[in-house]
Amino acid sequence: MTITTRFAPSPTGYIHVGNLRTALFNHLIAKKAGGQFVLRLDDTDPDRSKQEYADAIQEDLEWLGLTWDRIERQSDRLDRYAEAADQLREKGRFYEAWETPTELDLKRKKQLNMGQPPVYDRAALKLSDGDRVTMRAERGAGVWRFLLDQQRIEWEDGILGPLSIDAASVSDPVLIRADGQVLYTLASVVDDIDMGITHVVRGSDHVTNTATQIQIMAALGHGHPAFAHHSLLTGPQGEALSKRLGTLSLRDLRAAGVEPMALLSLMARLGSSQPVVLAGSIAELADGFDLAQFGSAPTKFDENDLFPLTARVLQDRPYDAMAEEIAGLGVPDDIAPAFWDVARANITTRADLPGWWAVLRDGGTPLVDDEDRDFVAEAFAMLPELPYDGDSWGAWTGAVKEATGRKGKGLFMPLRKAVTGREKGPEMADVMRLLQKKPTL
Ligand code: GLU
Repeated sequence: MTITTRFAPSPTGYIHVGNLRTALFNHLIAKKAGGQFVLRLDDTDPDRSKQEYADAIQEDLEWLGLTWDRIERQSDRLDRYAEAADQLREKGRFYEAWETPTELDLKRKKQLNMGQPPVYDRAALKLSDGDRVTMRAERGAGVWRFLLDQQRIEWEDGILGPLSIDAASVSDPVLIRADGQVLYTLASVVDDIDMGITHVVRGSDHVTNTATQIQIMAALGHGHPAFAHHSLLTGPQGEALSKRLGTLSLRDLRAAGVEPMALLSLMARLGSSQPVVLAGSIAELADGFDLAQFGSAPTKFDENDLFPLTARVLQDRPYDAMAEEIAGLGVPDDIAPAFWDVARANITTRADLPGWWAVLRDGGTPLVDDEDRDFVAEAFAMLPELPYDGDSWGAWTGAVKEATGRKGKGLFMPLRKAVTGREKGPEMADVMRLLQKKPTL
């Protein structure tokens, strides 16, 4: 049996950190087992699904290196869903219902008032053939509901452990809308069967769906894949993340300079009992991945945690991997490797690189405290002419020390701030040897 997993986003928006967790877990399970990872676009809703989002999802996954072995689109498979619907009809597990949303709402309110669970009362099942003809004539086509078998549905969840859901507490799910649109639940079941999906990992908001899907699969004559439901992400304080997910799209994180391996390393461990370790590759993450280590409690996510990891990714990056980008900044070839060596320990994201290059090329905007004004002016008057080398800083500050009597931090800090315009940065000997211009005040 080939372990086959899938990531099944609906192309109705950009994918965010929450979706990424689902994609990553499924990808890692497949890769660890030498199996197959399917990207499935759940695009049965023609009004909300957009090609632009389908493209963006693929771009975002490619950026992260979460490539897929196969891509499938639900909109290509409508015939298969119609066949499955026929099968359910033949088996007496599918029935048409005509209640309007307002009527359903009223029913629910009544049930709640009487202290009953708001479960669909199956009134449509009690209609006679004649009633049905009348309904169709008066209201057009109805929705199609799957007739649940009202017993307990049980499965061993890969994260939540043994689960048991009473089907009597769940409404018969609508699988086809009145306008004929096939809904996610049916399409997903048919796809998971046809595509040989062996493991489904998704958010815990799908637990009830899983219960009904297990029954639909059985009604279609199939067993079900192994299911696991991961917790949902919250903000750092435990606050719901749902409203902020709009700003936590993968595109936003990418634009903010987050490095793929930083994001993947954090997401592969957050919410598990294993510590976050910066991995060098997806294969390494897959090796160490263990679904059983994840807990059911909501997982706190703080996007700020991505930046120290991003800085570490960059610090470890060899020059060759950055050569093109550095050349793009206009750094001359002969100093480009040295520039990267000096800059990489002093950046959080790639977006910090142009700033450091500008400091070396043009000099920083001098930062001079009032009490240092005379000292800095005197020191700058002693600056030698270009070219500088690795000894220039030592020679200059040695002469300034001699002339002014300043030493230690009182000597070095004002000069660092005046030359670079910054309080922190690389060793000044390195800065000086890479300077392209004599600093001025
Ligand atoms: N399109 C569904 C979603 O994004 C897929 C859920 C599933 O994995 O089955 O929620």
